Amino acid sequence: MTADVFINNQWLPGADGEFDVVDPATGDTIRPVSNGGPADATAAVDAAAAALVSWRKVAPRERAEILRRTYELMIRDKDEIGALIAAENGKSLTDATGEVTYSAEFFRWFAEETVRMGGDYGTAPAGGSRTVVTHHPVGVAALVTPWNFPAAMATRKIAPALAAGCTVVIKPASETPLTTFAIAKLMVEAGVPEGVVNIVPSKSAGKIVGTWLEDPRVRKISFTGSTPIGRVLLKQAAERVVNSSMELGGNAPFIVTEDADIDAAVDGAMIAKFRGGGQACTAANRLYVHADVAEEFTAKFGAKVEALTVGPANEGSDIGPMINAKAVDDIHALLEGALSAGARIAHQSPAPESKGFYFPPTVLVDVPADAEIVREEIFGPVAPIVTWTSDDEVIALANDTEMGLAAYVYAGELQRGIRLGESIEAGMIGLNRGIVSDPAAPFGGMKQSGIGREGARAGLEEFQETQYLSVAWPD
Ligand code: NAP
Repeated sequence: MTADVFINNQWLPGADGEFDVVDPATGDTIRPVSNGGPADATAAVDAAAAALVSWRKVAPRERAEILRRTYELMIRDKDEIGALIAAENGKSLTDATGEVTYSAEFFRWFAEETVRMGGDYGTAPAGGSRTVVTHHPVGVAALVTPWNFPAAMATRKIAPALAAGCTVVIKPASETPLTTFAIAKLMVEAGVPEGVVNIVPSKSAGKIVGTWLEDPRVRKISFTGSTPIGRVLLKQAAERVVNSSMELGGNAPFIVTEDADIDAAVDGAMIAKFRGGGQACTAANRLYVHADVAEEFTAKFGAKVEALTVGPANEGSDIGPMINAKAVDDIHALLEGALSAGARIAHQSPAPESKGFYFPPTVLVDVPADAEIVREEIFGPVAPIVTWTSDDEVIALANDTEMGLAAYVYAGELQRGIRLGESIEAGMIGLNRGIVSDPAAPFGGMKQSGIGREGARAGLEEFQETQYLSVAWPD
């Protein structure tokens, strides 16, 4: 019997048996994992609520040092954790070890923030009182993470929550819970007290998270995942007016102007489109290339795409499998829809015939601007190219979506790049860069891509309540 429910620094069996974690490169089971049930969810809150009483009073320096040690331990075990991410998620070893470094940085960044939490102090304009503003931990926080960045989506929440003085209950994605377990083990080694971090893996996400949202001791939900599930959780959170942070889906435009450095744009597009096999919320979903440079861009980009190797991470491939068979079917459906709408496959790299959930990296041209493939999140290695001729036209195309997470602009003239970037309704703009993520930057989306920010000072504030004392102060 497995013991993967983590409560009070103890590993326990799940109340509802087990479920399998599958290697997407082969379709084989990596290992069964304990399936937590509502009783485990409540036990996790019992532990987190009890631990909150003392954790919120632990000196900031001491909290910071636990976070800092976790950072060091993650770097120590970078290759091991990278291999675990690659095994359960399928992404290439380069992407997986890159994710470990990025994830660990959240512990380092928030360790540094823990000892710099300030407040505010002012004199009331009318005189007679002073205002003293302080920040307090919001309380027990429920963290729900997706499978596409099994380490980073967990550390981007755990580190600021603990820095703020919150305790947490975590529901990792059922496809990729093993990485979260590995991080919890390192946190214990780093000295995290019992009950501060608790994990309930489960194949019945709704039951676990529903139990938490009904529990009056849970004061915060921090969710990363799809917009449809985000909507469900916001409705549930509304019942008790639970403080909510939502990191949801994307549909990033990638714009190339006619005066851009085309080689740099091609390199940026390779990262923005193919990192993690295209399964990133920030992935370039639609490439808008100025008609004057479309041929050159497509030829250079296509040559690089055709050179990508696709296969299992442990064979050193550039692109691993998709997360599961349904993901492959969904991408096929979007591709076929685009082909029937008049698009054409201009370049494609071969994918292995072997078992596993592979999809060949593909470049599509002649894509109608209103094709479903540019309106929906593809979440796979397909790059649809749409051409444009005026800045107003491309801004309208980029903003014609309910999503607003990331966008990319490659422009020769910097002012034009800034103007285009500021015209796009998205929380993060990569300007002449194919990557936007940074622990010191406020990651998050506009419109239906989310509410709130993760990383930077803003990420800490998501786990804090603001209070002020209005103090009688005769002048
Ligand atoms: P998902 O299906 O929404 O799942 C995310 C998490 O929610 C998983 O832990 C899942 O558990 C859980 N969940 C599913 N149904 C639930 C329910 N009814 N109640 C409570 N929790 C529930 O998303 P995904 O497919 O894992 O991830 C891909 C999506 O995440 C994409 O849309 C992507 O853009 C988005 N994403 C956004 C960001 C960002 O920062 N904005 C970052 C990464 C990913 P199970 O695994 O057990 O189903």
